[in-house]
This record gives sequence, C-alpha cells and structure tokens, in this order.
Amino acid sequence: MTSSRRDFLRFVLAGSVAAGCPFDLKLLADTAAPAPQVDGDHFDICHKIRDGEKFISPPVNKRYDIIIVGGGISGLSSAYFLRGENFLLLEKEPHWGGNAYKEDYQRQGFATGSAYDFVDSESAHIAKEIGLEQLPVNSEDPTIVNCKWVANIWRAGTDELPFPQKVRDAFKSFRQKMLAIDYEKRITELDSQPLSKYLEGMPPQLIHWWDAYGLSNWGAKASDTSTYVALDDFHYFAADDAKDLRITLPGGNGAISEKLAAVLQEKHKDQMLTGATTVSVEQQANAVRVTYFHEGRLHSVASHLVIMAAPKMIASRITSGISPDQRDAMQSIRYAPYPVINLIFDRPVYSRAYDTWCPGNTFTDFTVADWTVRNQPGYTPKNNILTFYTPLAEADRYKQLTADGCKKIALNVLRDFKKLLPEFNVDPVEIHMYRRGHPMFMATPGNFTKTIPAARHPLERIFFANTDSEGPESLAAGAVAASQKGADWVAHRLNGKSAARAAEKVGYST
Ligand SMILES: Cc1cc2nc3c(=O)[nH]c(=O)nc-3n(C[C@H](O)[C@H](O)[C@H](O)COP(=O)(O)OP(=O)(O)OC[C@H]3O[C@@H](n4cnc5c(N)ncnc54)[C@H](O)[C@@H]3O)c2cc1C
Repeated sequence: MTSSRRDFLRFVLAGSVAAGCPFDLKLLADTAAPAPQVDGDHFDICHKIRDGEKFISPPVNKRYDIIIVGGGISGLSSAYFLRGENFLLLEKEPHWGGNAYKEDYQRQGFATGSAYDFVDSESAHIAKEIGLEQLPVNSEDPTIVNCKWVANIWRAGTDELPFPQKVRDAFKSFRQKMLAIDYEKRITELDSQPLSKYLEGMPPQLIHWWDAYGLSNWGAKASDTSTYVALDDFHYFAADDAKDLRITLPGGNGAISEKLAAVLQEKHKDQMLTGATTVSVEQQANAVRVTYFHEGRLHSVASHLVIMAAPKMIASRITSGISPDQRDAMQSIRYAPYPVINLIFDRPVYSRAYDTWCPGNTFTDFTVADWTVRNQPGYTPKNNILTFYTPLAEADRYKQLTADGCKKIALNVLRDFKKLLPEFNVDPVEIHMYRRGHPMFMATPGNFTKTIPAARHPLERIFFANTDSEGPESLAAGAVAASQKGADWVAHRLNGKSAARAAEKVGYST
C-alpha cells in the first residue's frame, strides 16, 4: 500500500488504556501534581485513594439497598438479577458492556472484544431470558500458514499442514499425548505447571500455534499458560467427539450487554450511570459508603451491600477493609493488553470460516462479524467486517498509549492480513480499533486453583463479582456466573445470614 493510500484510510480509534482509575487530580488534596496520566499501569492515584489520602468526599446524599460497581456483562447481569431491589449501577466508561461491547457500521454489528458464547452457559441462559436468539457457529476453525488455508489442523487437517512430515507427526503425537491426560483428576498439579513444560522439544511451528491460541483466548503465551487451562480447551476442540458449542450474533457477546442494558433501562434508567468512576468503597459499621466521580463532581452514596463487578486489579485499589493476603492475591492476577481491530470492506473478501487462526502475525486470529446471520432469510450483507484479535505481550502495553502507536498496530494488522492469501490484497473502507489496557485476566499457572479462590472472598458487605472471580479463563459465562452468585449472596445476606455463611453458600469461602 502506498503511503498516500495509507493516509487516506479512515481510522477510528476508541477505548482507553489509561482507564484504570481516571480521576480528576484537582480533587485530590495535597497531591504533588504528577505527569499527565496516560499509562494505565501507573496506579499512583489509585494508591493514594486506597490508602485514605484526604480528598474532598462529600456527605452521603442518597441510600440504596445495593450498589453495583462496573457495568460490564457481570455488573449488568448483577443488576438484572437484582432488579427487584433498590440498586444503583455505576460504570466509568460512557457506555455499557466493558469487554463485551458491540459497535455498528452502517447498522451491521461487530465485536470490539468478546466474540462468542457457549450453548447452555450462564450467559446463554440470560441472553435467552431477555429475548436474544444466539445462533450456532457450526464451523471448525482453520489455520492459515505459509499462504495455505488448512481446515482444523488438530483433526482432519494435520496432514495438510505445509510443514515437513516430522513437524506434522509432532502435531499428531502432541495431540495424542495431551488428550490421554485425565486433566480433571490432576487439576491441582496441571494448573501449577506452565504449558511450555509439555512443549519442550516440540518444533517451533507447534509452539507458535499455542502462543497465538493462548494469547487470544486467555492472554498468555505457552510459557505463562496453566497446563490445566490449555488441556480443558484442547479437549473441547481437539477430541475425536468434539462438538462446536459456540453460539453468537453480530457484535459477539456485546449483543448480550447491549440488550441487557436496554432491558434494564426500560424501568431503571435513573439507577444506572455511565461516565461514573467509583473512587472509593468503604465498609462502615452499618453500610458501605461509595464515592464516585460523575459530571465533574464527587458524589457519595451509601448502601446496605455492594457488588464489585470491576476487575480485581481495580477493586483491590479502591475498596477498603481487604486483608493484606487477599489484596496480594487480587493484585497478583495479571491482565493482558488487548486491542481489537475491525477491518471493514465494502465487498466480499472472506467468509470461509468463523474463526481463522494465523500464528506468526500481528494478530492471532480473525472472525467474520456476520457469520451466524449470513444465511438467515432476509439478510443482505452490505459490508464484509472482519474482527482481528491482537493481544499484546504485557511489556508491549505502552504501544497503545498514543494514537500513532495504535495506527501502527492497525496498519500492521492490515499488512499481515493482505499477505496471508493473494485474494486478501484488498483495501478496507475503514479500520476501527478498540484499545484496552488490562482487559483479560491471564490464565497463568496457579491462577485458577490458588489465586482466584483467595482473591474473591466476600467481605462483610462487599461481594466481588467479575469474570476474574470464576475462571479458569476469562469468559462472558464466568462474568454472569459470578454475578448470579453475587445475587444469591445478596439474598442470603438480606435474609439475615452472616457474611461467612453467605460466602459458604455460594462457594466463595476460602
Ligand atoms: C478481546 C477480547 C476477546 C474476548 N473474547 C471472548 C469470547 O469470545 N468469549 C467469551 O466468553 N469471553 C471473551 N472474552 C472475555 C469476556 O469478554 C470477559 O470475560 C467479560 O466480558 C468480562 O465481563 P466483566 O463484566 O466480568 O468484566 P469487564 O468487562 O472488565 O467489566 C468491568 C466494568 O467495570 C468498569 N469499571 C472498572 N473500574 C471502574 C470504576 N472504578 N468505576 C466504575 N466502573 C468501573 C469497566 O469500565 C468495565 O465496564 C474476551 C475478552 C477480550 C478482551
């Protein structure tokens, strides 16, 4: 592509990497003015808030039964389950959905994050209940490698891989070895071991494949991946009797958040605030005091109970009363930086499979936005929208900080896509990029069996929801499962059960 053509492409950038704890510094008393906060990894401000530094906290002006912090799919589903109570839902971004957020181009939905759900999952149940019909994906994932499109490389496609025979044999023997492991029986041991241990001596092609697959699905390359998590997934898609249980709609799981928000807003619009950043959650003797920043001012409200549906790295920094051990556990969960690029073509370019793997490129895989509706009666596709998953290594988080850095990532995605197959050498009409600094908790060794259980223990009046209370990997289903438990915990607490007993009842006791 010539530089003039590149400059002509419309580039739309959304999302923020510095969204960890946006806070107006003027409201902090006694703060030596730090440099403008652009780096989401600097939590100086959050630490000051957590550590009780004086800031101008106004008197409580309203009381609720429940306050829910975070309007991702977990916070939204918490509000849905608790819609009979007097709740307040606070979301810092200007829109609902968190990592499950849908955008539209000429009325065609596409995902900016979370892509697909699973039949019969907690999120699928809630989607159905609010009137969404998620459609089956029904497509085996191919891989494009060395300019060749290969159908499912773990089953019929292994012999088609454009690699030397001994590499293809290594794929087969690895598959056999891994599928023979009884991973549920050996969960504790396998969750403590990195997948790289099982890849020792394997050809680089196999390691590259896992590095791309793991980064995309759980934010971690093989060296940082729990073997249990990899095996759990591998059995799902590579076993002889594997079935595709994925379901989705244009917009991915963002379609669920969008509908949940719409359903809740019908009756509870006044109890739902976007652009409202919670800066402190303080347990007091008979209530929880929540302070948030909204429309340029701080507000304090109180509630009987709180559901923290924001990720633990944020919850741990704004909630008081957490024990040092629990706070350590919360803060040892690692999160991958994860931009998502949508290339919008005004002509058909690719719709041969739903999710196509491309190890060795700027992106790990890409999905077809309208895959599940493409054959629906009455559907006329106008544009071909492809969604590229571009997870970064933690050390590369800074690359999203500037618009120029983002543009570079997006143009590299386009460059790599065009090189995959000759027919991909087409320019899109628009490139959309949604950048996120810390969206996906990484399925690192020990995270599922040790860290998460230690991190999610509810306090006297505060329940920690969010997908990072569940695991083993970051899923919309886990986000809803955690909020279902949150709603049950609230019910037990309102019925007079002690916090400890309520935690035990929902399986969140330590
Ligand atoms: C690129 C990508 C692809 C994915 N693909 C899939 C997939 O295909 N299938 C799948 O099931 N899962 C997928 N996931 C994971 C899934 O999206 C998440 O597990 C799920 O969306 C998490 O929802 P949540 O509500 O628990 O957390 P979040 O989405 O993180 O929501 C938390 C919310 O809290 C808000 N918040 C944070 N701090 C504050 C504060 N101080 N005050 C107020 N609000 C605050 C945030 O803005 C956010 O909206 C993907 C994730 C990513 C990033």
